[in-house]
Amino acid sequence: MPPPVGGSPRNHPYQRSLILSGLTRQNRTSTNNSINNSNSDNVAPYYQLSRALTPRQWCLDDFELARPLGKGQFGRVYLMRERQSGYVVAMKMMLKAELLKFNMQHQLRREIEIQSNLKHKHILRLDTFFHDKTRVFLVLEYAPQGEMYKKLRKVSRFPEWQASKYVYEMTTALLYLHRKHVIHRDIKPENLLLGSHGELKISDFGWSVHAPKSRRTTICGTLDYLPPEMVEGREHSSPVDLWSLGVLCYEFLVGKPPFEVLDDEDGLESTYKKIASVDLSIPDYVSNEAKDLIVKLLRYNPDQRLVLERVLLHPWITRHNGTSK
Ligand code: AMP
Repeated sequence: MPPPVGGSPRNHPYQRSLILSGLTRQNRTSTNNSINNSNSDNVAPYYQLSRALTPRQWCLDDFELARPLGKGQFGRVYLMRERQSGYVVAMKMMLKAELLKFNMQHQLRREIEIQSNLKHKHILRLDTFFHDKTRVFLVLEYAPQGEMYKKLRKVSRFPEWQASKYVYEMTTALLYLHRKHVIHRDIKPENLLLGSHGELKISDFGWSVHAPKSRRTTICGTLDYLPPEMVEGREHSSPVDLWSLGVLCYEFLVGKPPFEVLDDEDGLESTYKKIASVDLSIPDYVSNEAKDLIVKLLRYNPDQRLVLERVLLHPWITRHNGTSK
């Protein structure tokens, strides 16, 4: 380990690259990772999961706990400080047994592969990961202002300038993803965090896919945000994210998603129908410019949705973000 470098440890580029690359700790492993092959039916999946997660340069002892940040479906998230550099991260800890129980190992692997290759100011960085005998740890960029979902619920709906700013940031992130042939497929406020200046960060890549050419048929994501082609079981590709961007824009401005049916007694059938028929009504207090953008994104035909480059040029975006045509 090289000696500590002066200046602000969190921001020093050398210390940061130390964390990001993990190269200085090539030989370090976490706790004893040997697998007892004797008499457990679970040996194979554990072994496969361990293999899938190499290389492992970091271990828990490299970090000290600052405080818990939250609890998700598959683990707990802690604010941690890397001992040598003082670099602050959010560490997500997941139990291997839980991941295997819910058959999440492939999804997690894909999430790691995709997210660790992304570098954009509106996409939460995955710095590195490691694992021990029973747990997997993701070392993530810390988003100090927390969850977008909570922020939205607190105020019910955002003023137009703020919604426009978020949609603008989201659009730049989606442009970056689509140019790298990554489709996100699960855009919603719950999957967005906020950086130290309140900037949006896409944080969850659990349903994302790297799809250079193919069209997909898996139905995934969250019902209120699914596009017609998905609810109808047709093929889909990157325009699914354009639809979700329209739903997100609506939810930011209105406080609930456009096709939500509360107490859907037909087992979600009514929601499906509303989506498939694009049964959309936008309250009068939403400006005409914002309405125009929403309508142009929520089009039944994926090929007719406003493309991301045009979203950036839309008057509702340029007006509020000081970006010119
Ligand atoms: P998750 O398991 O990703 O749903 O995370 C559970 C909770 O931990 C979230 O709802 C956030 O409140 C918090 N959290 C997760 N990741 C971060 C992060 N990178 N920065 C700050 N808080 C986070």
